[in-house]
Amino acid sequence: MEINENTKIVSAKFEIPNSNTLEVAKAHGAYDAIDKAFEMNSEEIIKIVGDANLRGKGGGGGHAGTKWALMPCTEESESVVVINSDESEPGTFKDRQIISKDPHLLIEGIIIACWTVKAHDAYIYIRGEYKPFIDKLQGAIDEAYEAGILGDNACGKGFRVDITAHRGGGAYVCGEKSALLESLEGKRGHPRLKPKGKEPEWYFGRPTLLSNVETFSTVPFLIKHGSEGYHKLGTEKSPGTLLFQISGHVNKPGVYEMPFGMKMIDFINNIAGGMKNGKKLKAVIPGGVSTAVLTAEEAEQVTLDYEAMWDFNTELGTGGMIVMDEDTCMVKALKNILEFYEEESCGQCTPCRDGSGWADLMIGKMLAGEGKMEDFAKIQEVSDSMNGKTICLFGPSISSGLNSYIGKFRDEFEAYIKQGEQK
Ligand code: SF4
Repeated sequence: MEINENTKIVSAKFEIPNSNTLEVAKAHGAYDAIDKAFEMNSEEIIKIVGDANLRGKGGGGGHAGTKWALMPCTEESESVVVINSDESEPGTFKDRQIISKDPHLLIEGIIIACWTVKAHDAYIYIRGEYKPFIDKLQGAIDEAYEAGILGDNACGKGFRVDITAHRGGGAYVCGEKSALLESLEGKRGHPRLKPKGKEPEWYFGRPTLLSNVETFSTVPFLIKHGSEGYHKLGTEKSPGTLLFQISGHVNKPGVYEMPFGMKMIDFINNIAGGMKNGKKLKAVIPGGVSTAVLTAEEAEQVTLDYEAMWDFNTELGTGGMIVMDEDTCMVKALKNILEFYEEESCGQCTPCRDGSGWADLMIGKMLAGEGKMEDFAKIQEVSDSMNGKTICLFGPSISSGLNSYIGKFRDEFEAYIKQGEQK
């Protein structure tokens, strides 16, 4: 197979009718990577994942190879594989495409991951609200059991693989890996304190390989085409592709798999059909609401890869872009996000629990014409208190949101204050 910029790694079957069924998926290459994977040992597969520089595609962008290399890969360790499908980040809607349009690709990736780390149990933690998508996923799992792809003798390889789909209860914070595991263990979904050194995640004391749906779904491609095949796409440091999502004021919102490295403005104009109603671009949230907002000028310069986003003090996140046109009120946009954060903070850390509420309150006062110029200093204090002083990244995300919206669009915030002073 020739690999070029049009190659689709995870979305190749999306447009094929009934691609969620085993019959159609198999006719288009599903489970083709299994034989080759079972001929390899753990070290060989982990080397491919590492050499490919596969990044976690759920938002963090961490190096998957590093994570896989932490696993003990022995039967005695009773390791577990967990798939994060708790897709709750506003602006993000890609995993549901995979689990409803090509669930067998995900199952194939999970089987290979289980074989690699010698895990026999895999759990897909899926957002509870995704009921129609869960039904498609469960249908595919059931079909895979009936066909002997899963079970005591998975794919006829003498290796047991069982997959359980577990519905989450609707908390945003359960997308955070340690909160997800707490929830999967039957406890409240509170993020855990992080260890100082590098170690695997843990599920009931068992070493756990935890990654996102798209990350596992990329693994069959790596087995078939090697790390070299993956490096034929994307940039040197961000190889491969991502299921980019785009919503907001564009003509063709949707999910598009593209190699990393494309200019954001070209994506908006050429892939997403340009701005709706011919309006001017004002701002873009690049990767879900927890990533710092970019101005139109920044959006015209930045490329869609991890490193370029860091140069603009933001993150690629989930690749879920939210596009805002010239008529968007950035104060109202920030207020909307802060309401979400206040609602979803798990409440363990005072800076996040109280800070999200205070920030929402102060921006709300500005909108109501009751704000004062001194409030900017108070908001900065609240923002600083959340940055790097909380158990998980939820707090710092609020902080970077506050800093980017107010820092880049301060005149709009000041306009509300001045309007209030004139009343
Ligand atoms: Fe919970 Fe917020 Fe603390 Fe994360 S930062 S653990 S969401 S209170």
